[in-house]
Amino acid sequence: MAINNEFQQNLTMYMETLHPIIYVNHYDFNAIDAAIKSIANGYECYEFNNALGLVNFKTGSRVNSQLAYTHGLNGEENLIKFLDLMVNEGFSTPTILVLKDVHELLHKPSVVAYLRRIAENVLYSEGYECTVFILSNTLEIPREIEDYITILEIPLPSINEIKTQIQEYAQSADSPIDKQTLDEIAISFKGLNECQISQILNLAFFHDGELSRSDTEIILKEKEQFLKKSSMLESIRFKENINDIGGLEELKFWLRRKAEIFKNLDKAIKYGVDVPKGVMIIGMPGCGKSLSAKATADLFKVPLVRLDVGRLLGKYVGESEGNMRRALALAEGISPCVLWIDELEKAFSGIGSIGGASDITTRLFGQFLTWMQEKESPVFIVATANDISNLPPELLRKGRFDELFFVDLPNPAERESIIKIHLQKRKKFNSSIDLAKLASKTEGFNGADIESVVKDAIEISFVEHKTDLTTDDLLKVIHETNSISKTLQEKIKIIKETINKYKIKNASR
Ligand code: ATP
Repeated sequence: MAINNEFQQNLTMYMETLHPIIYVNHYDFNAIDAAIKSIANGYECYEFNNALGLVNFKTGSRVNSQLAYTHGLNGEENLIKFLDLMVNEGFSTPTILVLKDVHELLHKPSVVAYLRRIAENVLYSEGYECTVFILSNTLEIPREIEDYITILEIPLPSINEIKTQIQEYAQSADSPIDKQTLDEIAISFKGLNECQISQILNLAFFHDGELSRSDTEIILKEKEQFLKKSSMLESIRFKENINDIGGLEELKFWLRRKAEIFKNLDKAIKYGVDVPKGVMIIGMPGCGKSLSAKATADLFKVPLVRLDVGRLLGKYVGESEGNMRRALALAEGISPCVLWIDELEKAFSGIGSIGGASDITTRLFGQFLTWMQEKESPVFIVATANDISNLPPELLRKGRFDELFFVDLPNPAERESIIKIHLQKRKKFNSSIDLAKLASKTEGFNGADIESVVKDAIEISFVEHKTDLTTDDLLKVIHETNSISKTLQEKIKIIKETINKYKIKNASR
């Protein structure tokens, strides 16, 4: 992997400005070793590796000295022995210590104490020059020394870096790729690191010896796998589009306008248009909020990825924030994309209360807000929520999201259109079906209720060997259905009260 220029520059800058501990959060140790070596002239370099003990940093081989891994001692004892010798010998010449895969040992009190001592000496004792690098794919920072630690992350490759990687690969495989295919294919690799990209390239070339548009499916499937493993973002496949939504005309009109901007972003920005930030869709369960998130991605012609805040929560100090930072960086890496946060009220529940888990959620929430405020990348957020009564008001302020919409239970005209959409989807719509009558009998039903009425009526009609579905078939099922207004009366009342308090725009016309 070629180390990105920005990373190399930051590394040099932090070394020269005596940042005592630099935590490099990445998987590719070889590439980071190369980057450190390139600035290590004139430094003594020692490496501690949790598997091998002391390793010669310049050659990578195990060192057989008193510092070498001592059998019988565990990883913690060996690390302490290593740090103890380093500290006691002092650092009269500029020194680099590279610690690999030690994240699980970082919380041990004696390790914390040694690292603190080194950091304090670097900062306050003249002539004491040492930089500690911690290399790990997992970010775990002990609270006691967090102020001494600088986190360095390697940004995911930009679209131009991806193109260069593909071109170089294609050339080495003796199968050059034309510019148009390259432009079309490169975008599907966004959000992946160099190592993941080369694994997918191996697979695509293995299939038919070249990279073509037909490989897009393979790329997307593999990418889903990688995202799944990272367990922070989930890539969502869907078939729905904006025409599958019955009603919600105001929301659809607004989304179409944003899509126009999103699809012509360069031109729009030059014209003076702001990059669309996102939309919050609040309201009744089963009324098309998730459907709208999918339709947005389809309309914008970009991938849909879901952020599950609950999965970001970690057990160590700083771990959750680290996960959030990586998830958001990943979304930026995948961009342009739609980032969907489902059930926002659950994701950030407990904010503002004191202690334990809610402290973490509050910090994550603050981090998310700052990112939203500052983000310039084309990540369009669709946040969906039922009940916003416990959400912090600052989230609902204009300027965070471009707009907030309230999705109510469908009105009669909307119910007509939802019934028709679901009948047509199953090829069971015919002109004798009285949509107006069905709509009048489904007062208080949500979209999901209506869909289930249509499904059940079609199923019954099939079992009864009928050729065509009739209005009466549907009415019978409607009669037997307990709509959401009956089953969730109390919840609906609360949602309505909150919405009225905030005066949120209605998604329906
Ligand atoms: P929840 O708050 O429970 O997550 P939701 O608002 O996200 O609900 P959806 O998942 O979008 O609800 O809708 C559930 C099902 O109901 C969908 O599969 C969809 O087919 C149907 N549905 C809901 N609203 C509509 C609508 N306006 N038009 C067409 N179908 C709809």
